[in-house]
Amino acid sequence: MYIRVSEIPGGGLDLFASRGKASILRVLEGMDPAPFRELRLVDADLLLTVEGGDVWIEGSFEARGEGFCDRCSDPVTLPFGKAFQTILTPKSRDRAVAASVELHEEDLDVGYYDGKGVETNDILWEQVALDLPQTLVCSEACRGVCPVCGKNRNREACSCTAGDAPGPFDILKNLKGEKE
Ligand SMILES: [Zn+2]
Ligand SMILES: [Zn+2]
Repeated sequence: MYIRVSEIPGGGLDLFASRGKASILRVLEGMDPAPFRELRLVDADLLLTVEGGDVWIEGSFEARGEGFCDRCSDPVTLPFGKAFQTILTPKSRDRAVAASVELHEEDLDVGYYDGKGVETNDILWEQVALDLPQTLVCSEACRGVCPVCGKNRNREACSCTAGDAPGPFDILKNLKGEKE
């Protein structure tokens, strides 16, 4: 949703409260959810206030990603989320001003906008993207799939040793053999 700065009232704009919570579901549409296959925004809050031309953004989100474990390929569902604060300062603004904002508020993200309005989906997506895991595992302790016999080592112990590691074709043969 594109919000003009002139639309933001003095008391601030509670975006999803005023536009309807249903719009949350569509915020991440068209975004690349990797390493997840699917990513859903379950809940989000975004409060926009304007102060001296700067847009202060206070928000939080709850998301739910679905995908497959990098090590054992089992399905994984991972809820994640966080609260965040960002200040967007007009691009044209004197750099010294932005720097002073940065000095005062070390915990805040400081970004820029064109001075006219902000795209709230981009703001949320950026926060979600920063929080996406690098890799997806079903658990930190996941032992993965044995490269020799193809068994899921979380469920079944095998007696293979790393020295037996075959080429990819042997693994394929083994996998086929198990299915037939
Ligand atoms: Zn796993
Ligand atoms: Zn094995």
